[in-house]
Amino acid sequence: MGLTGIQIFQLLPKTNCKECGVPTCLAFAMNLAAGKAELKQCPYVSEAAKQKLAADSAPPIRTVEIGTGKGAFKVGGETVLFRHEKTFVNPAGLAMLLNDDEPEASVAGKLKRFKELSYERVGLTLKGNAVAVRAAKGDKAAFGALVTKVKAETEGGIILMAENPEVMAEGVKACADRKPLLYAATPDNADAMIALAKETKLPLAAKASDLEKLSALTDKLAAAGVQDIVIDPGSREIKKALHDEIHIRELSIQKKFRQLGYPTIVLPFEMTKDPMMETVYASMLLAKYAGIVVLSDFRGHNLFTLLLERLNVYTDPQRPMKTEQKVYEINNPGPGSPVLATSNFSLTYFIVSGEIENSRVPTYLAVLDTEGLSVLTAWAAGKFVGDALGGFIKKSGIADKLKSPTLVLPGAVAIISGDVEEELGSGWKVVVGPKEGAYIPAYLKQNFAQ
Ligand code: SF4
Repeated sequence: MGLTGIQIFQLLPKTNCKECGVPTCLAFAMNLAAGKAELKQCPYVSEAAKQKLAADSAPPIRTVEIGTGKGAFKVGGETVLFRHEKTFVNPAGLAMLLNDDEPEASVAGKLKRFKELSYERVGLTLKGNAVAVRAAKGDKAAFGALVTKVKAETEGGIILMAENPEVMAEGVKACADRKPLLYAATPDNADAMIALAKETKLPLAAKASDLEKLSALTDKLAAAGVQDIVIDPGSREIKKALHDEIHIRELSIQKKFRQLGYPTIVLPFEMTKDPMMETVYASMLLAKYAGIVVLSDFRGHNLFTLLLERLNVYTDPQRPMKTEQKVYEINNPGPGSPVLATSNFSLTYFIVSGEIENSRVPTYLAVLDTEGLSVLTAWAAGKFVGDALGGFIKKSGIADKLKSPTLVLPGAVAIISGDVEEELGSGWKVVVGPKEGAYIPAYLKQNFAQ
């Protein structure tokens, strides 16, 4: 059992200096107990207290970082079973498999797709995280050569897949500075893999045929000093794989079962040969609760689907995605351009700004901070109303850039036009625009094309 907030409080300095971001040591202790804070946020904890608290305040699932620089990604670190309880922290890594016995053209095509498949959504860039290089031939030179090529051509993370420690060592030699994940230590090769991971300080995957053997294996790794562990429960049938993922998460979170408190790696391509079913399985495992999903290939239709699912699963449901409140310039607006108004709910902002871009009509877009609520919800909550919108437009100073300022309100809130007009004063013309984003291009072309 973990320490309670009061027990943690007894170990803190009790100076209430506020440097951890909360007003008192007691509040910080309560946050630590609830997994909402990290011990390192308090710079004054004594070494003795640190040792006592570190193990207890660590997330029940260890955070493991793979890769370096732009290609680095973290997995694990989760503290809840369901995203509505708090939020999921580190999005699952998506990796693409490359075998060292694949024809050159296939390797080149896959690497090209790995680099090029990238999507912009709600202001974020969505793309795969890593290339998993598998020693299919069992040949040191072939493995090392492919790892070298992957390292030279990509910035992403690298997962080295070899169960022969000598072959693995060749891959490590080629890319140790990129902090690859070593996959995998098994009950048969554990000693050699532990030695390699300890020598290079690289994260190590542990793979066994069931959860009991896996727990014994992670125990052995941890006792030998390997801390950054990713686990593969070995299940290669989807029902069992899903069951194992859920069981591992429940044991880690609810029972604080440290032996399985690590992010997982799943290989749906070993569960089916059908590419469509592989994507379906990947989707199920991504939702519950895979840390890394390795796909046999990246194609637009499988990767995009999984990236969007990941975005949804790992978005904090308690905090709407928000855009910064400001007046955005789209299509190089000038003194004769209109000002469209909208809320700062990211999805609304990106739909509206996308439609304005499509229209090619130079336009200003005034985005009001509505705490991430969409226009109509914000109006109902009293946040997208005349004085708030009018006040923001006045403060922004946008009127100084315009010849005859015109503000276009979203059609859904035509009701506030009188209030906005009153707030802005006589210098402004306030009109009501379309109710749906899809009608914005036609509306702008018809009314404001220059
Ligand atoms: S930084 Fe440490 S000492 Fe200061 S208030 Fe927070 S917990 Fe207390």
